[in-house]
Amino acid sequence: MTSAGRFAPSPSGELHVGNLRTAILAWLFAKSSGRDFLLRVEDLDRARSGAEAEQLRDLEAIGVSWDAAVVRQTERAALYDAAIARLTADGRTYECFCTRREIQEAPSAPHAPQGAYPGTCRRLSTAEREIRRASRPASIRLRADVSEWAVEDQLQGNYVGVVDDFVLRRNDGVTAYNLAVVVDDAAQGIDQVVRGDDLLPSTPRQAYLATLLGLPIPEYAHVPLVVNHDGVRLAKRDGAVTLGDLAAVGIPAERVRHLILESLGLPAGTLAQVLPHFDARKLPRDPWVWKTPRP
Ligand SMILES: [Zn+2]
Repeated sequence: MTSAGRFAPSPSGELHVGNLRTAILAWLFAKSSGRDFLLRVEDLDRARSGAEAEQLRDLEAIGVSWDAAVVRQTERAALYDAAIARLTADGRTYECFCTRREIQEAPSAPHAPQGAYPGTCRRLSTAEREIRRASRPASIRLRADVSEWAVEDQLQGNYVGVVDDFVLRRNDGVTAYNLAVVVDDAAQGIDQVVRGDDLLPSTPRQAYLATLLGLPIPEYAHVPLVVNHDGVRLAKRDGAVTLGDLAAVGIPAERVRHLILESLGLPAGTLAQVLPHFDARKLPRDPWVWKTPRP
């Protein structure tokens, strides 16, 4: 089995400097620890035609290379089906018929954390399930027997987060992110997950699910996001933030890479050139405030 890190973008549009910075960090973490670096396109949801090709082109332009063919989640339904079948055989799943509104309005269980699924459909009788099936397709939820789980993160330390009966398959048939990511990382031999720290809160759910499936838990490093001048996570509306927009105002991809490296306390150069200078322990722990540079 390989030992690998990865970058896993959703092809919903062009990558912006925040995504590109996370990709560069994931590459540096992987290569500095002797791992391969893999790319996975998370196209189960919100995929926009043409976006994958744009994203791969931009990653290449910024100097991020990968070591195996790109994997797409839409080609991996059999793996997700097998994982859900295994959990179901273990009595670990149940059908849920709740609408978003019903979940919001349901009285939450005592001591349940904010936003956790209240367990409404956990104990439906066979007859009740039959009735509800006639009116609404079911989502599939995990029957969790813990309410929290701890993970170890290279940058954030020990992190304890909520585990509820989260969705494995949505009621429109789309595999949920938390299931797909766990199955894919294990199937690709990914033992190091570097990604934005907005995903830290869902990590305990994923680590718990991996444990139930008998899969190894990867090393985690959740890196600070890039934010705009208001401290809000960078988005397309924040002006020239994609390689295409930046090139149009006279800032080529190489300069963008150098700005990103500078924000990480690293010298300018190719990723291979800066690799010997990379030390995860010295990374800035605060978000990077993006200012569109002058050409
Ligand atoms: Zn329900």
